[in-house]
Amino acid sequence: MFRRSVYKKPAQLRGMIAPGEITSAALDVVAAAIRPGISTLELDRIADEEIRRRGAHSNFQLVDGYHHTVCASVNEEVVHGIPGERVLAAGDIVSIDCGAETPEGWNGDSARTFIVPGEGADPELVAQREQLSEVTRGSMWAGIAALASASHLGEVGAVIQDYIEDNPLPSTGQPAGILRDYVGHGIGRSMHEPPTLFHYATPGRGAEIKPGLCICVEPMMTAGSEEVQVEDDDWTITTVDGSSGAHWEHSVAVHAEGIWVLTAPDGGASGLAPFGVTPTPIP
Ligand code: MG
Ligand code: MG
Repeated sequence: MFRRSVYKKPAQLRGMIAPGEITSAALDVVAAAIRPGISTLELDRIADEEIRRRGAHSNFQLVDGYHHTVCASVNEEVVHGIPGERVLAAGDIVSIDCGAETPEGWNGDSARTFIVPGEGADPELVAQREQLSEVTRGSMWAGIAALASASHLGEVGAVIQDYIEDNPLPSTGQPAGILRDYVGHGIGRSMHEPPTLFHYATPGRGAEIKPGLCICVEPMMTAGSEEVQVEDDDWTITTVDGSSGAHWEHSVAVHAEGIWVLTAPDGGASGLAPFGVTPTPIP
């Protein structure tokens, strides 16, 4: 049976630029809208409008059984939260995961975590949540930076785990919990494609990193135990101990001249700078 290579040709890589930019723009408008009193369903509508305004459509709506444009995961929800009537409050931690597919059939996928600004939140809890989001974000950039020099995805997972272990959460003195059963993935004609990226060290080497690879690096972390459960809606993943969750994700292209973060407005320049990596636009 014919199986499409996971390594894209240069022209196919260029097709990945537009959906990345549209996904990033959708998250920008969500970011601007996040405030106490807004519902996660309103954020979903805002993201959908922006994706459509830019001539694409939501690829989350193409996932069997899913009917929304974003996943919105609040507090003890780590990933796959379904948008609804829930209203955000100051101090909530909310992860928004979003993706767009262009009419040409290429996909983007990205997630950001926000702490809802505003008065009245417990400052200690806010600080804990900011620390969790920051270490999750840092582990993502460490993993993306590793794509520039590593030879196999297993090395990227080990780098992410090392980053988490080297940066324990000040609130607990312990490293963030790394979700084990939810993974990064290839992206292209579909939002979810081979190969798999584990966000922790594995015995296997993983897929080869070489020009043409498009991969989503998306660490999902908790402020406590790594143990999670699926809620009764069959989607939402929550921490068993009730601790907060965070999720950061970018779609990244590896090409002949370097790496380019497709879902970052600057190609990843600012996020990669602390790691000594400079992204190169796709030729
Ligand atoms: Mg995603
Ligand atoms: Mg993803």
